[in-house]
Amino acid sequence: MAVAVENAKAGLDPMFNPDWFLTDEQKQLREQLIEICEKEIRPRAAQNDRELIFPRESLEALGPFLGLTLPKEWGGLGQGHAMLVATTETIARYGCASTAMCFTMHMGAVEALRLTATEWQIENVLKKVVSDKMIGTLSYSDPETGSHFWYPISSGARKVEGGYEVLKKSSWTTSGGFADWYVLQTTSPEFKAYSDLTCWLVFNDEVESGHAEWDAMGLRGNQSGSLLLDWKLLPEERMVGAVGDGAWSNDEAVDPFFLISSSACWNGISLGAIDICIQHTTRKVHKDVGMRVCDYPTIQDSVGEAIIDTNAVRCMDYSIAAAMDAVTDNGQRQLEQSEYARGNYLHWLWQLKFAAAKNCGLVVDEMLHSTGGTAYKKSPLELERFVRDGKAGWVMGPTNEVLRQFVGKTALLGMESLDYWNQVVNERSIKNETKKMTPEQKKALAEELLAEAAQG
Ligand SMILES: Cc1cc2nc3c(=O)[nH]c(=O)nc-3n(C[C@H](O)[C@H](O)[C@H](O)COP(=O)(O)OP(=O)(O)OC[C@H]3O[C@@H](n4cnc5c(N)ncnc54)[C@H](O)[C@@H]3O)c2cc1C
Repeated sequence: MAVAVENAKAGLDPMFNPDWFLTDEQKQLREQLIEICEKEIRPRAAQNDRELIFPRESLEALGPFLGLTLPKEWGGLGQGHAMLVATTETIARYGCASTAMCFTMHMGAVEALRLTATEWQIENVLKKVVSDKMIGTLSYSDPETGSHFWYPISSGARKVEGGYEVLKKSSWTTSGGFADWYVLQTTSPEFKAYSDLTCWLVFNDEVESGHAEWDAMGLRGNQSGSLLLDWKLLPEERMVGAVGDGAWSNDEAVDPFFLISSSACWNGISLGAIDICIQHTTRKVHKDVGMRVCDYPTIQDSVGEAIIDTNAVRCMDYSIAAAMDAVTDNGQRQLEQSEYARGNYLHWLWQLKFAAAKNCGLVVDEMLHSTGGTAYKKSPLELERFVRDGKAGWVMGPTNEVLRQFVGKTALLGMESLDYWNQVVNERSIKNETKKMTPEQKKALAEELLAEAAQG
């Protein structure tokens, strides 16, 4: 095993942790998790990355953390959002980023199912998450809508005797083909408009996965290949929530969990890179000048800025998590159907993911520069893996291009201008374009539109 982190305290001093967001019990849980990471997860990270191995063993080593937010009576740890942030950040920092991302998707699926769980779903899945180490994931992205993953245009569902036949084509699914169960989203049976979405619970033997396609720059263990559920008959109990409530469950469960936890993953990668840089630069000596690398003010500036920027985003993540804990009784309150609690923080979550992913991309580069050519090699430092893993943040949906536009557009034009499902007509653009047309062109367009309108 290459020794990037010999022990957790060897990198950035723990006084730089914003620990006022955590209770003593949570800090204790984090200590247990650091031990699991050091013993079970970090030693496997390099091989998983090199050989594209799904981190099943690392995920199973998480034990009770697999049920982090589930009620204690279901075998969970009964924790809320702040501890989710601390957990994912810790796995990415001291364990491995692929495991942290698979854990993020697992917890997103756990929460998507728990939001409206039926007795059948509780008994057959949620109560078995910890005892049977049942790993879940989310499958939302659609091959025809790219990073507009909330718009499952090529999916479908129809009511038949005995349940529903469901089609789902997904272009990317973390843990796809390896997870035991999936929450996936399609257009609703008899759907009318694209905000009319429904979620389903499916099991691994029901899907065809393209995990063998996965060969990426970073997060190489997370196996995010394509997925197909080919008009499979799903019994009634496999519907997650109600017909048409998929948009609500996106806002209330999937997005809040994914965005705070994936942001924690990017922060954890940033911290892991800072740890490695500190360990290396405090040891490496230039004999000619008798200085360690850390003695150069350039390196001190670089590490200082990386810590400041990373901790700004960490505080943002923990702060939004705390706000969501406050409106959900530490994540344990059963929400009413269609109730908005966490969904009210969506515009904060967009800002958070943008900031965490942007910062991570910059910090891993900066730590590579400050650590030097030794960090560019695959071992012994492993910093180059952090650089590659960290680059996934910006491109993962919602991408940072989409997010900064969401935020700017919302601020300038209001929430309704976002038009997720491409339904709002941009009258200004139409008027602007038609005013450029000749009378003949206008007439031809009018006739074309009248013919389309006649067809209904
Ligand atoms: C490591 C990894 C794991 C993933 N895991 C999952 C998963 O588990 N489940 C899942 O559902 N998905 C997953 N995804 C998919 C992810 O959420 C995105 O759907 C995917 O990255 C989009 O890639 P694309 O090439 O289709 O991008 P495109 O949509 O083709 O985007 C190309 C470029 O156009 C920009 N762009 C797109 N739309 C707009 C817009 N409206 N305004 C401005 N710019 C825009 C993008 O930001 C990007 O720069 C994963 C992706 C990665 C990288």
